[in-house]
Amino acid sequence: MEHAKEYGNFINGEWVEAANRKTLQLLNPASGEALATIAASGPADADRAVRAADAALEGWSSSTARERQELLLEFANRLRTRANDFAMLETLNNGKPIVEAVHFDLPNAISQFELFAGAPFSLSGSTHDFPDAIGLVHREPIGVCVQIIPWNVPLVMMAAKIAPALAAGNTLVLKPAETVCLSILAFIDEVKDIIPKGVVNIVTGSGAEIGESLVSHPLVSKVSFTGSVPTGQKILQYASKNLIPQTLELGGKSAQIVCPSANVDAAVEGAVMSTVLNKGEICLAGSRILVHETLRDEFLEKLKKGLERIRIGDPTQMSTQLGALASKVQFDKVSHYLQVGVDEGAKLLTGGERASGSELDRGYYVQPTVFIDVQENMRIAQEEIFGPVTCVLTWKDEAEAVRISNATSFGLAGGIWTRDLFQAHRIARGMKTGTIWVNRYYNMKEGIPIGGYKQSGFGREFAYQVLDAYTQTKSVILNLSDCELGIYNH
Ligand code: NAP
Ligand code: MG
Repeated sequence: MEHAKEYGNFINGEWVEAANRKTLQLLNPASGEALATIAASGPADADRAVRAADAALEGWSSSTARERQELLLEFANRLRTRANDFAMLETLNNGKPIVEAVHFDLPNAISQFELFAGAPFSLSGSTHDFPDAIGLVHREPIGVCVQIIPWNVPLVMMAAKIAPALAAGNTLVLKPAETVCLSILAFIDEVKDIIPKGVVNIVTGSGAEIGESLVSHPLVSKVSFTGSVPTGQKILQYASKNLIPQTLELGGKSAQIVCPSANVDAAVEGAVMSTVLNKGEICLAGSRILVHETLRDEFLEKLKKGLERIRIGDPTQMSTQLGALASKVQFDKVSHYLQVGVDEGAKLLTGGERASGSELDRGYYVQPTVFIDVQENMRIAQEEIFGPVTCVLTWKDEAEAVRISNATSFGLAGGIWTRDLFQAHRIARGMKTGTIWVNRYYNMKEGIPIGGYKQSGFGREFAYQVLDAYTQTKSVILNLSDCELGIYNH
């Protein structure tokens, strides 16, 4: 696919360079090769983008449901028409296997646009009848939204953020991650002819440079953020300046509980998938496997076999199953945790090192890794590693499994592997987490909310529930007679 080698910011319907003219490079983490140059924006660019979004608000917020639906459906169409091209850009910049980009990222991004294309017609307020009055609750757009997203699944994140915001009649400024955003910029270029001026604006560059100017801008009414806990804490501080509402999605350390009646082969497949899918760089990853002690040996033997079969290599090859970590920063972070695990006394079932040899030496490859003999309070069992690294713990009784699954500060997702219906429901009730998959991990279904308990954040996305966060209501109470109350007449 031919994509521009240079991108500016997309503001008010045009590509413009950063005010300071600074740029930075997007890299291919599998080869080190430079892919494109993007704008390294500063506060002046943030201000310019927010003003463009604000100027476009009146027009877009009074668009018809049909107009909003058509825009979102056309976004979906254009992604689908060139799905393989966009998948390749995602792979080149992020390092994920092309097979995943084609079968996971693109379909999920497309479905977000299609899901929310239905929303404009169903968005409505309510009426309330009283003997002497009528209550009208109007539902209105919230205003200019700032949306900040990470580098792991850029197209999916972009779609999940912009689709509901636009469906609800808002305008927005999206800041993608500075390391991985090529697919997003190429997508915007693809749809720039149909975006009404200023409705969607993209500002690239370092979050540390422009995050505060964006979120605390007086013309911004809402922030939605996905990323790490420390940055989430900063977002809350910035948002406190003008008291704007936030949606935060901050990662996890999700547990998959394997029960005695589980289909072990299916559970092992779930564990393999959760370890390697997107290189483990997924907030929903089920990176703590809690296996019932009676299944431990069989499970570990099959898991080791499963992971040692995984084909690591050039992410652009259809046969590749595990690609390169997204950046040097992420590679260093994951490598650090591999050492931490060993230092804490956990044992390696498999992996534990950089994956090396010929072509692999040029990229940020890590072997799929499983730590066993893991204690629940170890750092590797508590902190989000965000790489192809999974911890296995064991349990004896159900209450213990539930307790361990909840023994982290996170609560984003979880899995249960069992053929016992009663047990499945009991455990699901007990898990303090936002999404639970029973007998198939990553079973993504359209319209199901995703979001966190505890420090995994708050607010729900990927579902119509998020429309509440992108609208506000206005209550109008109409009295049915125009006479005075007369209470001050005597
Ligand atoms: P991050 O720093 O939180 O990055 C997420 C987004 O926030 C990026 O666009 C980033 O911009 C931006 N950002 C950074 N500092 C900011 C600030 N002061 N104000 C506003 N925006 C700011 O996360 P990361 O450094 O990419 O990854 C670190 C860890 O976060 C990962 O290892 C993982 O544990 C977790 N994480 C979770 C998710 C998730 O889906 N929940 C996704 C990614 C990462 P820059 O690109 O310029 O940094
Ligand atoms: Mg960062």
